[in-house]
Amino acid sequence: MKKLAILGSTGSIGMQTLEICRNHPELVVKALAAGSRIDLLESQIREFAPELVCVFKEEAARELAVKVADLPVRIVSGMEGLIETAASSDADILLSAVVGMVGIQPTIAAMKAGKDIALANKETLVTAGHIILPLAKECGARLLPVDSEHSAIFQCLQGNQGNSIAKILLTASGGPFRGKKKEELVNIRPEDALKHPNWSMGAKITIDSSTMVNKGLEVMEACWLFGVKPDQIQVVVQPQSIIHSMVEFEDGAVMAQLGTPDMKLPIQYALYYPERKYLPGKRLDFYDLTEIHFEKPDLQNFPGLALAFDAFCCGGSMPTVYNAANEWAVAQFLQRKIGYLTIAESIQAAMEQHSVKKDPDVEEILVTEKETYEFLNRRYGQGIL
Ligand code: NAD
Ligand code: MG
Repeated sequence: MKKLAILGSTGSIGMQTLEICRNHPELVVKALAAGSRIDLLESQIREFAPELVCVFKEEAARELAVKVADLPVRIVSGMEGLIETAASSDADILLSAVVGMVGIQPTIAAMKAGKDIALANKETLVTAGHIILPLAKECGARLLPVDSEHSAIFQCLQGNQGNSIAKILLTASGGPFRGKKKEELVNIRPEDALKHPNWSMGAKITIDSSTMVNKGLEVMEACWLFGVKPDQIQVVVQPQSIIHSMVEFEDGAVMAQLGTPDMKLPIQYALYYPERKYLPGKRLDFYDLTEIHFEKPDLQNFPGLALAFDAFCCGGSMPTVYNAANEWAVAQFLQRKIGYLTIAESIQAAMEQHSVKKDPDVEEILVTEKETYEFLNRRYGQGIL
């Protein structure tokens, strides 16, 4: 039996995780957390019977508590509740699939409480990798990547521990606007950017994929997870999303992980690591697959990717600024308050005005996040996020 706490259970990754639990009764759900979709959360509670559930907003938590008053479940709220949900149940493993920097503190608390972490929430590593990695070592917590590229890299490294990585080839689909120039991107609307050619995901990461900021965040995530430098990461555009990433070793050998695009594979691999279990679904047919196409990423028209390399090389609090500016800009874009190209422009403007703090602690990271929002609100005259 494996006991799970899931943060973000009503989202894309959270729901796919519960689908895996449905097929594997030995995976027992002990705690759940979500930010919205109370009706869905109620049905998850009735199906999986967790002991502890967090809804971030207090009012929504009260609404849920009334709905499930007939069940022996405790409902909590706020950051305190989220931390408690991540750390206090007797779960062995925390699957963190919230979106954004809200994931940092619960992840830290869960590691301190001796849990392994299956990490989908890449924003946690991007902003606090310098805290998370040493802490995982100190606590003996395993950090198991759920992001498909990082899971692919992790899978390629199995049996190769001790051999140093020459290069990571981080694959990217290029998103729905691959091949377009800036002039053609000016008038992109949220509904255009919310269509991803290969993956069905939450709104924020779908926008991030279209701007290539997702790949930028993943470059930083890979540097932390696999202890490589940014110049050891080569982003390779592979539009069919068949190769999920590759590792080149010192002798020139390249290992790749391939498969049909299905997030349940990396989620299940993280939950059962190092075991592989049957996963229903489409298999690759190499007779149908006549070609796999590769391209260089277009850094001119998609500057979000180049800015991520700059942010990571600068280090300290700069990746937090990159991430916070993007979170701000994506939320404004989805509300139609700023244009599509203003997303990358906001990141650049926020990075340019920032004085880097070296080795920021969690409080400094959160202050940097707030200062970045304030700067962008002043600059673009928008309401508070
Ligand atoms: P989503 O928007 O579909 O779901 C996010 C979940 O987090 C929802 O359940 C939401 O209610 C919850 N949430 C948001 N704010 C919260 C808060 N303050 N407190 C508690 N819960 C909160 O997002 P997603 O696509 O599932 O992505 C989740 C994370 O996984 C992101 O960091 C994303 O980058 C990463 N990821 C997603 C995919 C994918 O295929 N969807 C792939 C790789 C990585
Ligand atoms: Mg990914």
